[in-house]
Amino acid sequence: MLSRFFSYYKPHKKLFILDFSSAVVVALLELAFPLAVSWFIDSLLPTGNWSTIVSVSVGLFLVYLMSTFLQYIVTYWGHKLGTNIETDMRGQLFEHVQKQSFSFFDNTKTGHIMSRITNDLFDIGELAHHGPEDLFIAVMTFIGAFWIMVTINVQLALVTILVLPLLALVMTFCNIKMNKAWKRMYGEIADVNARVEDSVSGVRVVQSFTNEKFENERFRENNGKFRKAKIAGYRIMALTGSSIYMMTRFIILTVLIYGAWLSFTGRLSYGELVGFVLYVNVLFKPVDKISSLMELYPKGMAGFKRFIELLDSEPEIKDIKEAVEVETLRGDIALKNVDFSYDGKHPVLNGVNLNIHAGETVAFVGPSGAGKTTICSLIPRFYDVEGGTITIDGIDVRHMTKHSLRAQIGIVQQDVFLFTGTLRENIAYGKLDATEEEIREAARNAHLEEFIESLPDGYDTQIGQRGLKLSGGQKQRLAIARMFLKNPPILILDEATSALDTETELIIQEALNKLAENRTTLIIAHRLATIRNADRIVVVTKDGIAEEGGHDELIEQGGIFANLHRVQYQR
Ligand code: ADP
Ligand code: MG
Repeated sequence: MLSRFFSYYKPHKKLFILDFSSAVVVALLELAFPLAVSWFIDSLLPTGNWSTIVSVSVGLFLVYLMSTFLQYIVTYWGHKLGTNIETDMRGQLFEHVQKQSFSFFDNTKTGHIMSRITNDLFDIGELAHHGPEDLFIAVMTFIGAFWIMVTINVQLALVTILVLPLLALVMTFCNIKMNKAWKRMYGEIADVNARVEDSVSGVRVVQSFTNEKFENERFRENNGKFRKAKIAGYRIMALTGSSIYMMTRFIILTVLIYGAWLSFTGRLSYGELVGFVLYVNVLFKPVDKISSLMELYPKGMAGFKRFIELLDSEPEIKDIKEAVEVETLRGDIALKNVDFSYDGKHPVLNGVNLNIHAGETVAFVGPSGAGKTTICSLIPRFYDVEGGTITIDGIDVRHMTKHSLRAQIGIVQQDVFLFTGTLRENIAYGKLDATEEEIREAARNAHLEEFIESLPDGYDTQIGQRGLKLSGGQKQRLAIARMFLKNPPILILDEATSALDTETELIIQEALNKLAENRTTLIIAHRLATIRNADRIVVVTKDGIAEEGGHDELIEQGGIFANLHRVQYQR
């Protein structure tokens, strides 16, 4: 775990060396200071030589000046180092999350992911900056101070050191407690985030059910749990700090009394006593530092562990080594004995066989929950089949690179996701390097141009968060414009028009028909009018593919489809 942590320093080696060496010099100067005071009192004061005193003071001033500069470096460049490392980690995590398979998102709350990417890494920067530096300086200062104390007076040094094991014991105990407390806090804040994400993205549902009170209550519960966890952590932190403070003051008192006695009996000079008391303080600095590290370390490491955990979760759907980059596919799709379930327990598809020819338009109908969307999700490999194969142009989809496979497939769903930004940017999402002319042509083909041009800002109109300023039909047309730009040989329309009123649907249907030209098209639809033009209709039920054939052919058969047809058209 630690070596993994240190690997993040590599790109910032220079910064680390600069910060670290400055910190060491500052610590060395601190270490020398009491010696200078001691010498000042014992050797310089008795001479009464004012000009030496002045020149020593000037020298001291220069040393302080240097120390000030170095401290600036440590604070600024050190924190810069920490922030850089935190930023690297956050970027890496974001990239990793983007790679995850659908199944990962099925099982992970968005709020939890947000929490990992933001909060969990907050303390890492601090730890990265202070961790190794403070530890090294603490050890160096401790050994140095103690060694000088021994040379001043052995007995006094021994008395000081006697209490330290007790201190270490208390600190270890507190450390364990603190570790637990911070881990709990991170879990709770993740839950808080998940709640916020839920309530905010679902605010329309919340308000239409007027369940604000219920949501507040739920949130209060999570928020309260977080508060409890955080406060518990701080209590232990406070306890640790107070215990350490008390012990250090106790030692100083002991040294003062014992040192006074030594000096009365002529075994310690005044300068030595003052120097010694100052060294006791220097000695406690590393103890202080280590105790604050003990707060920082578990906090940072708890975050780092959660970071690593997520970073090490392999995406389920990956390219195999021999995966090929496919160029433009024709679009012959074949499912052979396909078995699939989402959870490994409840089969959704069982031995499904289906052949779709290039350029064909195939419509899927059937009760909701039958597995129509599932079939369509398997083709772009959003999930992998459990048994059987899916091939496109005779090549198993698992033998293609994910990227090149998905570049060949366009999907329009009932819910259109719009990104924060302008209309232009949202259309261009289908082809990031699209030219202005291409974007306009796509909008025209999607029957969206007239609407866009009626807006005061035209293509530069900002879409409110998630595109809430557009109607369902407009969003749908925007999704279609994206598809015109992407221009994939295979098209999947999953209830793309189901949420629209019949009139809007007619306009969009026209755009969709144009989009479907010269492509292999899979349409899932509830309204049978939508699929009248399909070359073939596939009826999917819970037991698999029940019927397959042309529109009139299926009606003649008098099976499930004929029944559906009768229900929809006779009222
Ligand atoms: P359809 O599109 O025909 O309405 P789906 O393919 O969406 O049906 O769903 C088929 C079955 O798989 C349903 O029982 C549904 O509950 C289940 N299912 C769909 N998506 C998931 C998912 N992401 N995780 C677990 N089960 C799912
Ligand atoms: Mg569906």
